[in-house]
Amino acid sequence: MFRKIALILLLTTLLLATERRYPCSNCAVWNTPQKGFRIFGNTWYVGTHGLSAVLVTSDAGHVLIDAALPESAPLIEANIRALGFRVEDVKLIVNSHAHFDHAGAIAELQQRSGARVAASPWTAAVMKAGAVPRDDPQFGIIDPIPAVARVKILKDGQTLSVGPIQMTARFTPGHTPGGTTWTWRSCENGRCLNLVYADSLSAVSKDGYRYTKRKENPHGEDFERSFAFLESTPCDILVTPHPESSGLWTRLAQRETQPDAMVDSNACKVLAQNLRGQLQKRLAKERAGTPGRR
Ligand SMILES: [Zn+2]
Repeated sequence: MFRKIALILLLTTLLLATERRYPCSNCAVWNTPQKGFRIFGNTWYVGTHGLSAVLVTSDAGHVLIDAALPESAPLIEANIRALGFRVEDVKLIVNSHAHFDHAGAIAELQQRSGARVAASPWTAAVMKAGAVPRDDPQFGIIDPIPAVARVKILKDGQTLSVGPIQMTARFTPGHTPGGTTWTWRSCENGRCLNLVYADSLSAVSKDGYRYTKRKENPHGEDFERSFAFLESTPCDILVTPHPESSGLWTRLAQRETQPDAMVDSNACKVLAQNLRGQLQKRLAKERAGTPGRR
């Protein structure tokens, strides 16, 4: 009897945890478990198979970038532990953009770790409110994130330190007004490389939304500034919130035979060019009077 009640309680909790107002057909696949692995030096992949989370480690504490879906928290924590680190040693959590599929587990992981959370002004406001604001192109089609209790507001170009780790925030708005790309350096056997965690820069919106009509960004200037940043920043290893967007799984497989497969100093430039092409198509569609989700 007790076992039955416990099981019912567990199932109810699981249902509540994954209850969504808006259906997410990709979420189950995105949340597929993925064994954590070293990307380079003190930089580790601790996300799910479909959504990135990156841990940068030091003896004085760690930085976590992104935290997938609300239900991904146990998977991320298990990956951190399996790699020999403690979630309690995560001192700082940062984010690419405040959507439920990249910031969903930040509140829970902040509670478990006691880490500080730092974000761009727009992202910090969304995190504190736990609501999707009206100026989000996906307002009305996506769920909000669980609210985050304490969020420090960052300036563009600000560098945050955790022990020897220097994590720099570069605002790359477009996909959301608060989008942020993160840059840092990691070293392995005396070789130090520039790592870039580039935020999503896809023009995804609710039906009828027009980037060409947006008051604060009438011709996609936010996007263009963000693309220009990606094209100019030193970038030896690129990771993106959706890992396949930077070819992570292909590179990981290639690494079996080519130890340097993760390193590609053109990766950020190629990504920016592809994304610029996608945006141009979207803007052309809008001008032709057929705005849509993509
Ligand atoms: Zn998003």
